Amino acid sequence: MKYCSECGSEVSFTIPEGDNRERHVCNECGIIHYINPRIIAGTLPTYDGKVLLCRRAIEPRKGYWTLPAGFMENGETSAQAAARETIEEAEARVNIHGLYTVFNLPHISQVYLFYRAEVIDGQYGVGVESLETQLFEEHEIPWQELAFPTIQRTLKHYFEDRKSDVYPVRSEDLVPPYRKP
Ligand code: ZN
Repeated sequence: MKYCSECGSEVSFTIPEGDNRERHVCNECGIIHYINPRIIAGTLPTYDGKVLLCRRAIEPRKGYWTLPAGFMENGETSAQAAARETIEEAEARVNIHGLYTVFNLPHISQVYLFYRAEVIDGQYGVGVESLETQLFEEHEIPWQELAFPTIQRTLKHYFEDRKSDVYPVRSEDLVPPYRKP
């Protein structure tokens, strides 16, 4: 950040009084511009034992398969964000079944939340951010073409937990280099 979004003056990167880390502080109006981690919410949409994946039409990782997920908007809950992203990317309405995976990515200041969800009536389409969408059986999952470690980890947990049909919340810190599945 170079300029204050409040008054347009230059900002300094300095430790405000009473704080313990550097912030962007306006030289003119004195406002402190806090920059905090961003939350990405998504779903693990399933139907009839299959998992709905989307092939990304946008960078990063264009052409790779992902679970529907995206940045939370102001004024919505994380579950609402996850359901909204599933509509936007896969044109699928879902019943949310509960929080499933939580990933901290401190190196890029992001937190991922995935909810287990059932695709209502098995209906889905291709959203504008997707090249294609498809329901995959476990043996059909394109493990080598998954977009992000968060996707790979969520799917790994799911197929493992599905054996016992018990799905505790799985929380992991993903810091490069990622361990292999
Ligand atoms: Zn200012």
